[in-house]
Amino acid sequence: MALPSIIDPRKLAQQQALYEGNVAADSLPRFAEAVLAIESPLQARVEFEINQSRKPCVNGQLSITAAVPCQRCLEPVTIEVGAEFALEVVWNEEQAAKIVKRTDSWIVAERQANLVELLEDELLLALPVVSYHAEGGCAADLRELLPAEQQQSTASDNPFAVLAALKKH
Ligand SMILES: [Zn+2]
Repeated sequence: MALPSIIDPRKLAQQQALYEGNVAADSLPRFAEAVLAIESPLQARVEFEINQSRKPCVNGQLSITAAVPCQRCLEPVTIEVGAEFALEVVWNEEQAAKIVKRTDSWIVAERQANLVELLEDELLLALPVVSYHAEGGCAADLRELLPAEQQQSTASDNPFAVLAALKKH
């Protein structure tokens, strides 16, 4: 099932609507720009409800496969991007500011809103800043091509090297 894009989130919350389905890759132009290629449709489960404070909410789980540049060898690496969100539907910034910290908000100033744009925002937030092939999976290890001097600086720039150092203590 394809997910609807233009929805009335408050009405759906009253109806406790649940959507499980997908969004075609070509409906996600901003996410497409952030990666090398989208390799699967977006799989989504989106649930609308009225929360304990009697406010309309939308909760979702998302998953999509995309190719991004490996930061070690610069060749494409396929990653799965998963996101989970729980948002309270509010009319404006002022209302959003009043929400307890645990919940994020989705500002919907009109009656209707674009669900697909919301899902795309959540995917962009969930996209890792850097990705790597699994150990040994790189097309060519750039470190082997560099002189020893530069290899050392490469090692210290590697965030995993910092983690490894921390683990020793
Ligand atoms: Zn690689």
